[in-house]
Amino acid sequence: MQLLGEPTGNKIWTRKHLLGLEDLSPWEIRTILNEAERMLPNSRPGSPKLNDLAGRMVVNLFYEPSTRTRVSFAQAARRLGADVTDFSSSGSSVSKGESFIDTARNIEALGMDFAVVRHAVPGTPHLLSHHIQSGIVNAGDGAHEHPTQALLDILTIRQRLGRVEGLTVGLVGDIAHSRVARSNIHGLKKLGARVIVCGPPTLIPREVIEMGVEVNYSLDSILNELDVVNVLRIQFERQRGGLFPSIREYYRLFGVTAERMARAKPSLLLLAPGPINRGVELTPEVADGPNSAILDQVANGLGIRMAVLSLLAQAEANARLRNS
Ligand code: ASP
Repeated sequence: MQLLGEPTGNKIWTRKHLLGLEDLSPWEIRTILNEAERMLPNSRPGSPKLNDLAGRMVVNLFYEPSTRTRVSFAQAARRLGADVTDFSSSGSSVSKGESFIDTARNIEALGMDFAVVRHAVPGTPHLLSHHIQSGIVNAGDGAHEHPTQALLDILTIRQRLGRVEGLTVGLVGDIAHSRVARSNIHGLKKLGARVIVCGPPTLIPREVIEMGVEVNYSLDSILNELDVVNVLRIQFERQRGGLFPSIREYYRLFGVTAERMARAKPSLLLLAPGPINRGVELTPEVADGPNSAILDQVANGLGIRMAVLSLLAQAEANARLRNS
């Protein structure tokens, strides 16, 4: 019996869902990164399509706004030969009171094989995995995890700086409400990076400190130690207000400006998950400047999402072979 997909050594990918980076082993993270690099040349329109998901249906089940993640998953699935359906809660029977689980089960009855789930409530993709047969990818659950964002951040670091192990990565901003921060911490630490979280004390909760990161409340004092700075957005939509005096004050202390960049390592890699608020977390000249890899991150997201969908499909095919 031949099993599909043996990216490294004699291990095979067995996971049916990607719910977060907390559960993944370093080998699994590296496997996704390697697969993504292999798939990137096939990620663009005009390049040869792959057929890893031929005859399969991927559904974007989005209950929160999205630009990059949604378009990227749809394009990634199409590049693998899948049929893609985009569901958004607004304009659907959710407004008639249909529950999340019922909605997903009905869409599965229409042929869904993989659900890409974004929801404001932490743990929603995990809950769904107990109620449907489809493979599930977490595309952001509240302030909990956003695994494919962290994977594309880490891939960008590896591409630009040649490694992850031993690098010092600063996660700056609204750590408390950021799923990107949590997934980055899990992924970066598993690959051997040193992680410093930095922001106003009111935006760095104890629970994150307990994840084994260093904490610093002064960007200026850590700036010259950083190899990478990942600038996280203030998640106003998840805050009840009053967590820092004003946007101006925040910008003065934590804004990534050209003046601050001049005091950092010349090779400092600047990442931001987007959407970016120019003039709040970083200035336009920094966002568009030579250290910025913001658009590379977006492009790398295609490779990561192709890799994840393909690996989940391989796990499912392997499980079927094993049971036959
Ligand atoms: N797009 C990312 C997310 O959905 C980051 C952000 O919204 O700030 O979490």
